[in-house]
Amino acid sequence: VLKRVIIGVDLGGTKIAAGAVTPAGDILVARTVPTPAAEGAETVLGTIMALVADVTREADEEGWPAAGIGLATPGVVHPRDGTVVYATPTLPGWSGLRLRDSVAAASALPTVVLNDAHAAAWGEWRAGAGRGATDMVMVTLGTGVGGGVVVGGVPLMGSQGAAARIGHVSVDTTGPRCYCGGIGCLELYASGIAIARAAQAALDQGVDTALRSVSRPLTAAHVVEAGRAGDPYAVAALATAGQYLGVALAALVALFNPQVVVFGGGLSEAGDLLLGPADREMRNRILPLVAESLSLRLAKLGGHAAVVGVALWAWRDFGLSPDPTEAERSVETAPGPAYRA
Ligand SMILES: [Zn+2]
Repeated sequence: VLKRVIIGVDLGGTKIAAGAVTPAGDILVARTVPTPAAEGAETVLGTIMALVADVTREADEEGWPAAGIGLATPGVVHPRDGTVVYATPTLPGWSGLRLRDSVAAASALPTVVLNDAHAAAWGEWRAGAGRGATDMVMVTLGTGVGGGVVVGGVPLMGSQGAAARIGHVSVDTTGPRCYCGGIGCLELYASGIAIARAAQAALDQGVDTALRSVSRPLTAAHVVEAGRAGDPYAVAALATAGQYLGVALAALVALFNPQVVVFGGGLSEAGDLLLGPADREMRNRILPLVAESLSLRLAKLGGHAAVVGVALWAWRDFGLSPDPTEAERSVETAPGPAYRA
């Protein structure tokens, strides 16, 4: 038995998570530290390397030496050279960074780098709610909206690594300009930031809602909580966001004909309040034949999806963990919870 681990790392805007991951996708050691984003790219990279060293040492002490590193990062990652082609200003200095080469040189371990949403989708496909499907779309609903697509068992990266940017599918011909340069992007309607911003605007306009009594700053979690308690504004706001999500889903389903759409990220915990309207809007816009064989599921790996996904990707990239065979994929081995769970 090969007793080796990959050190999987998930870089976020506020925290960095790392875990020692086996070829089966089990996490042996897990650590999280805050992201010193404001201190610049060098400091963030140093923090990542210190965290990797800690997790590597702990795993080693338990008899599991590290075979390599998998790093999931926000932004567009070039599929061949592991360079961050584009990152949002939330990580100053991250755009243009030769991330794979830097981490590999500093650690003397083989390294792979993936976009964080692509990594989470790969994790859910290999070890979570997408397991057993040949074709899967994953939507990560958090502060922003991210995505990943698996087509016939192959992850969709795009020529520059910028494929499956579901948050930047346009859902409104007359919508506002997005920071990405697009118009009416899904992220402007169905992200945590968008929902919180809309709620604050509603309060400013004097709308009658229980959100008036919650502590500031107002977040999407407050809106979800109010929605669960039956607050009419919150219920309607989440339904509107869900409708926009449904428009984007209809486009994705028409393009990729998946068996499964998996929803991850903190905002997916809104469940039926958000995903019910999304489901109805989507089904109203797609071929009935396609709708019949499609199931919507919640992600199973929770906050660990990107750590597990990028590690499993590294195992595959290093030739140590082959993809499931066609026979293995045709069996529904681990159906995830339905979104109405
Ligand atoms: Zn956009």
